[in-house]
Amino acid sequence: MANTFGVHGMVWVGGWSAAEAEKAVASTAECGYDLIELPALDPAAFDVDLTSRLLDKHGLRAAASLGLDEATDVSSEDGAVVGAGRRRLADALTLVRDLGGDYLGGVVFSKLGRYTEPVTERGRSHSIESIGWLADRAADSGITIGVEVCNRYETNVINTVEQALAFVDEVDRPNVVAHLDTYHMNIEETSMREPVLAAHRAGKLGYVHVGESHRGQLGTGTIDWPAFFGALAEVGYDGTITFESFSSAVVDRSLSSTLAIWRNTWDDSLELARGARAFLRDHVG
Ligand code: MN
Repeated sequence: MANTFGVHGMVWVGGWSAAEAEKAVASTAECGYDLIELPALDPAAFDVDLTSRLLDKHGLRAAASLGLDEATDVSSEDGAVVGAGRRRLADALTLVRDLGGDYLGGVVFSKLGRYTEPVTERGRSHSIESIGWLADRAADSGITIGVEVCNRYETNVINTVEQALAFVDEVDRPNVVAHLDTYHMNIEETSMREPVLAAHRAGKLGYVHVGESHRGQLGTGTIDWPAFFGALAEVGYDGTITFESFSSAVVDRSLSSTLAIWRNTWDDSLELARGARAFLRDHVG
């Protein structure tokens, strides 16, 4: 296997000023990762020229992820809100394209946050139509769209891989894939192996987030890593594996609250990222 190893930007920084961009990109390279995943909740916050220069200088690639919010929720019944969501997604797509990336994922199909009711039939249709619309635009730039399977407290549209595969099947575009995340799988799935096999069987295992059960350092929580990495090896997964971790040590005002990051799981980003990279080397190669 020749996986691409990534790290999520919030391991380093909570914003994207020139100094933050420099720190995040340089540190990602220093710790031996191939890719940085940009948290693009506000795509306009990224200086594309500066970021491109930094990626080139450090020999890195970029992907982007985001979750929509209340005002841009493409699973809303309100067409105006869906329209605002599509504009946000289009902006994120432009960012990925301009940075030479080939992946945009996350909770692109709904609000990232807690719902108090199930998604409606009409809302789910809006979501499916919107991802189809986004995928067609993405195809022009060779970009893949990933729908991230996310736990019940952060979306009501896709909580399991089975739901993701049904959703992707209905979207019916070749460049839409399932994005698995161990943190969410640990909450919602019956095993860490079966969802990997199911996504692979469907030809839709497109992107992987590795996150520990408490969102801190890999190997220090309750995730069954041998089962998960064993399944990736079993299906010959050679795509991207991105380390995702959050601590109150690095705060993005919006994302940290939405993800309920109330406590400190680590202080030292470099130590964390180096440790995670070593963990991945030990388990994946
Ligand atoms: Mn994730």
